Amino acid sequence: MAAQETVDHKYVYDFSEGNKDLKDLLGGKGANLAEMTNLGLPVPPGFTITTEACQAYLATGREPDGLAGQIEAHLESLERAMGKRLGDPRDPLLVSVRSGAKFSMPGMMETVLNVGLNDQSVVGLSAQAGGTGDPAASGGAAGQAASGGADRFAWDSYRRLIQMFGKTVCEVPGEEFEHALDEIKSAKGTQNDLDLDADDLRGLVDAYKKIFLKHTGREFPQQPREQLDLAIRAVFESWNAERAVLYRRQERIPADLGTAVNVVTMVFGNLGPDSGTGVAFTRDPASGAQGIYGDYLANAQGEDVVAGIRNTVPLQELAQLDRASYDELLGIMARLEEHYRDLCDIEFTIERGKLWMLQTRVGKRTAAAAFVIAGQLVDEGLIDLDEALHRVNGAQLAQLMFPRFQLDHEFQPVATGIGASPGAASGTVVFTSARAVELAAEGRSVILVRRETNPDDLNGMIAAKGILTSRGGKTSHAAVVARGMGKTCVSGADAIDVNVPAKRFTVAGQTVDEGDMVSIDGTTGKVYLGEVPVMPSEVVQYFEGSLDPEHIDNPLVRAVHRIMTHADGKRRLAVRTNADTGADAARARRFGAEGIGLCRTEHMFLGDRRELVERLILARAPGEREEALAALLPLQRADFEEIFREMDGLPVTVRLIDPPLHEFLPPLEQLAVNVAVAQERGEDVAKEEALLAAVRRMHEENPMLGLRGVRLGLVIPGLFAMQVRAIAEAAVSCARGGGVAKPEIMVPLVGAVQELETVRAEAEKIIAEVVGDSGVEVLIGTMIEVPRAALTAGQIAEAAQFFSFGTNDLTQMGWGFSRDDVEGAFFWRYLELGIFGISPFESIDRDGVGRLVRIAAEEGRAARPGLKLGVCGEHGGDPDSVHFFHEVGLDYVSCSPFRVPVARLEAGRAVVETGGSDSR
Ligand code: ADP
Ligand code: MG
Ligand code: MG
Repeated sequence: MAAQETVDHKYVYDFSEGNKDLKDLLGGKGANLAEMTNLGLPVPPGFTITTEACQAYLATGREPDGLAGQIEAHLESLERAMGKRLGDPRDPLLVSVRSGAKFSMPGMMETVLNVGLNDQSVVGLSAQAGGTGDPAASGGAAGQAASGGADRFAWDSYRRLIQMFGKTVCEVPGEEFEHALDEIKSAKGTQNDLDLDADDLRGLVDAYKKIFLKHTGREFPQQPREQLDLAIRAVFESWNAERAVLYRRQERIPADLGTAVNVVTMVFGNLGPDSGTGVAFTRDPASGAQGIYGDYLANAQGEDVVAGIRNTVPLQELAQLDRASYDELLGIMARLEEHYRDLCDIEFTIERGKLWMLQTRVGKRTAAAAFVIAGQLVDEGLIDLDEALHRVNGAQLAQLMFPRFQLDHEFQPVATGIGASPGAASGTVVFTSARAVELAAEGRSVILVRRETNPDDLNGMIAAKGILTSRGGKTSHAAVVARGMGKTCVSGADAIDVNVPAKRFTVAGQTVDEGDMVSIDGTTGKVYLGEVPVMPSEVVQYFEGSLDPEHIDNPLVRAVHRIMTHADGKRRLAVRTNADTGADAARARRFGAEGIGLCRTEHMFLGDRRELVERLILARAPGEREEALAALLPLQRADFEEIFREMDGLPVTVRLIDPPLHEFLPPLEQLAVNVAVAQERGEDVAKEEALLAAVRRMHEENPMLGLRGVRLGLVIPGLFAMQVRAIAEAAVSCARGGGVAKPEIMVPLVGAVQELETVRAEAEKIIAEVVGDSGVEVLIGTMIEVPRAALTAGQIAEAAQFFSFGTNDLTQMGWGFSRDDVEGAFFWRYLELGIFGISPFESIDRDGVGRLVRIAAEEGRAARPGLKLGVCGEHGGDPDSVHFFHEVGLDYVSCSPFRVPVARLEAGRAVVETGGSDSR
């Protein structure tokens, strides 16, 4: 017999057998019910059927062997413990059947209460509660209140069972039940379900049974065990319900986890005014403030609180209704917080003055609350700073750095879509890309409103302050492109009806025309009519240095300061910034940047300098080219001087010119038209014609793979030399002025060591000549952004003093994606199909592109120990990517100024999470 038992796989766990760390197996709800049971808290007895049983059921379409017997055994022991039998006509044990997956999926799967009631046991339940079970008999004068109440309760429980069972297990449309309930209420002339007496509810049970029969073709099942089995199976199947599948995709929850099923002895909050049910948080999940946050509803069963059938009262009022239960509840909440060392949310029921705990979990919270609570828990000695750092993340910090809407009662959202790209944006409504461009050129803020966007909208999206669509999710074209651009976007606000030809949209019965103002919150997905005032972020003010963290009473800023300070102490990665101007550099420095990892030089060829670039490109004789370069030299030198000044004492990596030169010339079509028009008028067009010929000559089918980067430097004599000279001269002039400039010259797009060697030989000569005995040191290194460079890193390291991974190009060339084309054209489809979970331009593709980084880092360092390694793609500010770069052992990441705090935080978290304690 014993041998037989060990053969069976264990599919059912009593609450006393589990614990909170078994979420994979028991689901979150089951694991935490077990944890509370073991803490000695009042949890109604029960057992959990494992996620493995669900997986087996879903794979084969039937319950796995042994499951039925194990359920039977656990049910029997539950019956013994309770001294009742499931559905016993005289004194029935009733249970709830509750889903509960590893990750909470609110409202996605369902629960059936009062399983075990039928036409007989409803009488027994009433009798046990002090009634007769027969509404006709409860009219007697004596004991009317008690017995009438008990009868009412029993029939109320029964009608709830038919309703929930019908809807959840047998797919009977829920509205039909609601409609029948409304009808009885209106026949009685009441809105309140408490005014229905036992008689009414018995009538309702009959009506419900008819609805059940009509939709299922069978009578409502009277066998308690059949009810139980069908309910368990329905919970298994709810894992694959359409909305659950969609939700998982949205939240990136794996599809194969399955759900556990909890069978829990019923306790009753609907036994009268001394009973009730409620939910609570141990702290405010919005602000993190300490206190008691919850709702209570007397004489009700669980789902009523959320369903909003009657008005709940604030939990504090329970103190008046039932002091003893209230005090006990507060004690339990404190105990849970101490045990879980975190904000908990709970569900409870009071049955005739006796408190029961029905659920707890570590509660969800806003970004602000996450920081505030982590800080408080450190103060309370419940967690240390490492743990606090672990509990917040860069995405939350980034959210806190966006400006927020200042909402008062005046502004109510008219629609809620998906917060597709965070931020708060207000502006004039436009419906076309062209109009967006027009108004933006006049300096107006515009919100581009479309049903969905497509690649034709790109210019409008660039011009707009925000994008609002009525269709599409987090992976729609609008969402993907807006995130790529860092623009605020709300997608899928389906309450909005967009009519582009008529230039208007309607929402909630109102019409909004082109030119009206609208405000969108890309974090919450909310849409407001009119211009909602925007408040700057306190967190940004703090980073900018305009708030003194030591003398501030804003709890959020205090918490951010404390956790950031700890992250800085922990992290091994340095954080630099990408900055092309003195102003950007200064701002990034205030945000904590420890140098510049990428200073692009292309903007130094724009504006009124374009003309010099044209001369350079059109030069026929060496003399003409040299003249143009000589004119550019002092301009660039001045730019570098400003940047070195701002970054005094910190390293500045300057990238030599990278984009193809035709980007600095007018577009072909425009030139062709100009030439034609001028010829018509008989004007002298020699210069335009030369330009046009040059543009034609320089046309490339694939500019990203064409004449750019180091290739330009090798083809156009004197170009790199001029830039190297400007950098070296600026550094020397800085040093003469008493500053410390630390330039690092970076050669882009190198694929072979010979390219770098050629550039380097020339550069070193110039540097030696300019620097002389000024003490300035100039490093020369390369970007690793061509796959071949990564694969020959050992050779390249011989000629490079540092590597900087250009992960944008490495991703483009590694995948063969042209970023500008693919994000709009098909990324949404790839995301939908799960080919990747997130755009590889947003977060580094560890397996492919990441592997190139790893190889280059290892082989580069093997060839040149101590080789300095950094990354300057946008991935440098992406949380997951920062962890990857930490693991690979880079020295620094570089990102846009606004991302610097995020990278600092994540670099600290990476150390804590890999269990390291290395601090600098
Ligand atoms: P959800 O995951 O949607 O919160 P639950 O399984 O927690 O679903 O059930 C919803 C509500 O039903 C609970 O909050 C609780 O109030 C009520 N409930 C569930 N099981 C029981 C029970 N055994 N006794 C009394 N009420 C219950
Ligand atoms: Mg619940
Ligand atoms: Mg590049």
